[in-house]
Amino acid sequence: MDSLLRHMVDMTGHRDHTMLDISVISAVQELAGAVQTRVLAIATVAGQKFVRSRACIRAGGVACPEEQDGAGPGEPITSFPELAHCLENHDSRAQGMGPDGLRRLWLPIWFGDKADTCLEITHEHGFTADSVHTISGIVSVYRNFQNLLDYSERDSLTGLLNRKTFDDQLARMLHGADAETLLPGRLERRQHVAEEKQWLAVVDVDHFKTVNDRFGHLYGDEVLILVANLLQTSFRSQDRVFRFGGEEFVVLLRSTTLENARKIIDRFRTNVESHVFPQVGQVTVSVGFTSISAADSPVVTLGHADQALYFAKANGRNRACHYEELVANGLLQTIATNDTAEFF
Ligand code: GH3
Ligand code: MG
Ligand code: MG
Repeated sequence: MDSLLRHMVDMTGHRDHTMLDISVISAVQELAGAVQTRVLAIATVAGQKFVRSRACIRAGGVACPEEQDGAGPGEPITSFPELAHCLENHDSRAQGMGPDGLRRLWLPIWFGDKADTCLEITHEHGFTADSVHTISGIVSVYRNFQNLLDYSERDSLTGLLNRKTFDDQLARMLHGADAETLLPGRLERRQHVAEEKQWLAVVDVDHFKTVNDRFGHLYGDEVLILVANLLQTSFRSQDRVFRFGGEEFVVLLRSTTLENARKIIDRFRTNVESHVFPQVGQVTVSVGFTSISAADSPVVTLGHADQALYFAKANGRNRACHYEELVANGLLQTIATNDTAEFF
């Protein structure tokens, strides 16, 4: 009981989702004596459900957020037939056996008729009624707490992070990048790590006013929701997607090379271009992106991405432009700001 209370205190002491995930799987892993516990994210892409692991702890290890370089929406739900059935019936849990012969317990986190998160617990011998009961209690606390965090951090139309959380997430990403290069396992990758940077992309829907004017605000809102979904499925789980206001979005991309950042951003842009929006048909987006450095203030970094976005808008739209490249090619002027002095 002591350890249950300790875990409860730990879980409710966090104010961000990653830490909450880490804390809940640590609690469940220990209390259930599990082989592995994961937080699964469930996303719907073009009517198909996909599952990807967001955080994981294995016996004898520590809980970690999941690294996912390849991105993509994840594994199709058909690889998890018991879970698929459970989601279809809005059940509170499902059990089954994995390909490894170990027992699995899935507990979706329901909000109304939607569950985009699920806990998965793997056990050698299966689950007693008692342990299922305890785990379900933890899941209820997790659910309530997640709801509370979402309410303060998320935009109500699209469910993306709101602008209020941006500075915090940016600082965390810069800080996390420092810590990451120091991890012993990464030392042999130092060469690679040196080329990896954090990136900031500003995304703006092209001619969105026309969408509203021709189809009405409701269809406009629907487009924003669908673009938000495409953002979430096109970028990797360690990236962060924000709605900055209106039809403007910001993405923070963690630790990747210029080549990869460009590829990921362009994949998103073409995903939007080729999506058929109900009634509206085709919608496109323009993107401006820049590398993030701890030396620049968020205002300066956003300004650079905005300049690149403006260039994309002025030069045909439906394209992604890279600030540093435009500057190097003499297509953009760097605007000298004495950013600290100006605001006083
Ligand atoms: P551009 O390609 O240059 O970006 O053109 P645009 O029409 O997208 O740009 P503009 O900034 O002139 O128009 C943005 C429009 O977005 C105007 C506003 O009515 C609409 N808008 C802002 N917020 C919302 C919202 O929450 N829902 C809907 N439906 N429309 C919104
Ligand atoms: Mg626009
Ligand atoms: Mg705009």
